Amino acid sequence: MGSNKRKVLKGLLQSDDLYEYILETSVYPLEPEPLKELREATASHPWAGMGTAPDAGQLMTMLLGLVDAKKTIEVGVFTGYSLLLTALTLPEDGKIVAIDAHREPYDQIGLPIIKKAGVEHKIELIESEALPVLDKLLEQHENEGSFDFAFVDADKENYCNYHERIMKLVKVGGIAVYDNTLWGGSVAMPIKYIPEGRKPGRQSMIVLNKLLAADTRVQISHASVGDGITICRRLH
Ligand code: SAH
Ligand code: CA
Repeated sequence: MGSNKRKVLKGLLQSDDLYEYILETSVYPLEPEPLKELREATASHPWAGMGTAPDAGQLMTMLLGLVDAKKTIEVGVFTGYSLLLTALTLPEDGKIVAIDAHREPYDQIGLPIIKKAGVEHKIELIESEALPVLDKLLEQHENEGSFDFAFVDADKENYCNYHERIMKLVKVGGIAVYDNTLWGGSVAMPIKYIPEGRKPGRQSMIVLNKLLAADTRVQISHASVGDGITICRRLH
């Protein structure tokens, strides 16, 4: 599938050829048509690199199925790749609360494709800073422990704050996924090699990774798909 080839691959594997092999063999041929369309429509956006990597998306789709997700929350939508994969996986009466501080990329690029795919009715998009929305959700007690699945992919410096709220919103046995937790592999590189602009994100991920590993409320798997995702299953 040559049209899917990109010059710059964003996986973490040491060999681009191996990452491309995984994408070409196991991911792109199975990627639903609307997701492929959205990925390609996002490719020309100046911030296209922010979109969820398709191999990470494929693993998220499996996790959504494994927990039989019906109600989910997403923090950080951009053009909507992770949102659309969730909407395609949830049942007809499923519901996604999706939060982003800026909804234009979603409105301009994602929404037309999501409408065409017939899954818009599952999505409630809230344009706002995420933290106050999560706090507001928690003020309504019926939301506590009511979400099957959460995906966190917004401002990295707030991940630890999001985690505290998400642990209350997700049910016991439910799953929270944090994206970019290997930050281009930079979490394991000496700081002198890190460009200035990448340092705050790297530091946030280093702090989060330690915090998640020490959090006895969750079982974790730090998976090196995409830019690194940490899968947390709430135990109690
Ligand atoms: N999951 C998306 C990528 C998200 S990129 C995908 O699959 O394509 C990160 C997004 O987080 C951006 O759209 C940005 O507007 C949003 N964001 C950044 N800081 C935020 C904040 N404090 N509250 C809510 N959204 C935020
Ligand atoms: Ca991301």
